[in-house]
Amino acid sequence: MTDIRDIIKAGCSELDIEIDNIHVEKLVKYKDLLIEWNKKMNLTAIKDDEEIAIKHFLDSLACLKVKGLVEGKLIDIGTGAGFPGIPIKILKDDIKTTLLDALNKRLEFLKEVCRHLDLTDVEYLHGRAEDYGRDEAFRENFDFAVARAVAPLNVLVEYCLPFVRVGGLFICQKGPNLNEELKEAEAAINILGGRLVEDLIIKLPFMDIKHRIIVIEKNKQTPTKYPRRAGKPSKNPIK
Ligand code: SAM
Repeated sequence: MTDIRDIIKAGCSELDIEIDNIHVEKLVKYKDLLIEWNKKMNLTAIKDDEEIAIKHFLDSLACLKVKGLVEGKLIDIGTGAGFPGIPIKILKDDIKTTLLDALNKRLEFLKEVCRHLDLTDVEYLHGRAEDYGRDEAFRENFDFAVARAVAPLNVLVEYCLPFVRVGGLFICQKGPNLNEELKEAEAAINILGGRLVEDLIIKLPFMDIKHRIIVIEKNKQTPTKYPRRAGKPSKNPIK
């Protein structure tokens, strides 16, 4: 099997993302921790080195193709085992990162990862996005929100846009067949103060898989009635 280091380096080169050896070694350590912890808790269904490198690491790093994603405060909503937030943080250490998830066990894993990888300026939030999104300490307090594999877009925008300051970006990673989902989310994006500004198609290196990255800019404040209480957005998405 090809060494995971070579896959990461060649994949970044294909995606035109700069990476140095220190970052590569941190990703390798992250992979080792992921495999070790995955034996005692459910973190990922992807267990093979090559697939972890491509489907988790390179896929997460594809967010760096978004030109506006520069220094600032980022929140990863429904981060799970740390995707896409941790790979972004490894390459862009000057991004202050908040990792939010409803499952505390996953955050315990992420604390260990950040400790081993010397990642600083990381905050951990345990709970529902809908609850933190109404909390003044977090609402409209981030330059960037990111999310991957958390909910359909019309639900996800209600989880994520409340965290983004006006002028900031919500960067959403999705599968290729997004057109219907995007149409169904149009009203919600508008009501919550967003505007679609970028739609990238990403071909995953070494695989015949294409993903989409949707970038929504916050152009006005989210009305105070959103997000609705926990569970409501998924039960009854904004139409
Ligand atoms: N983003 C990661 C990835 O791409 O591998 C994890 C995806 S996992 C399928 C979805 C994660 O979102 C889970 O860890 C779950 O606990 C979290 N989640 C789902 N709904 C949430 C909500 N309303 N608030 C906070 N976390 C949520």
